[in-house]
Amino acid sequence: MRGLRRLLFPLLALVFAGSAAEARNFRTVVIDPGHGGHDKGGQWGLVYEKHLALDIATRLESEVKKRGFRTVMTRRSDYFISLPERVRIASRYSDAIFVSVHTNYTWRQDASGLETFFHSGQSRPLASYVHSGMMSKVRAVNRGVKSARFYVIRNTTCPSILVECGFVSNPSERERMKSAWFRQALAEGIAEGILRFRRAG
Ligand code: ZN
Repeated sequence: MRGLRRLLFPLLALVFAGSAAEARNFRTVVIDPGHGGHDKGGQWGLVYEKHLALDIATRLESEVKKRGFRTVMTRRSDYFISLPERVRIASRYSDAIFVSVHTNYTWRQDASGLETFFHSGQSRPLASYVHSGMMSKVRAVNRGVKSARFYVIRNTTCPSILVECGFVSNPSERERMKSAWFRQALAEGIAEGILRFRRAG
């Protein structure tokens, strides 16, 4: 028994040291398009967050694949998936990061811009790289990188962020979000940020 413990302790120490060091050796990007089905998310007229998020996320999937990562989508079409289920999907992969894609909404129509959220300290650099990536591709108000307690980024164990790709409640931002070039530019910016985060590891 004592012999076993002597053997186990250094082994466990190695495992824990390894997991911290390898946090950035991820190969998989779990992409989580916000909302879906009866949960439309923010909406203005016929512009629904759930549609915009799925489109940006699908473009992100192909941009991330081009950069050599494996991708997993939490949803691929317009159906409802619960927050715990999104977290469960992410937890199946030990070599992953998690990126939840949303658009913003507020009653103040003049609010606009991009913001990126993280919860744990290990996720902060990922949030910074991805946010700079988006800001470098489009001209938008920079609302910054912030800490928040959103369910999906609080309950996933891998580096996890939530990006807010503009306000559907702002008339000019809504017009831009309706254009494919804008959604494509955001997807490329997020993918560039992910790649830079990976290379910085
Ligand atoms: Zn949302």
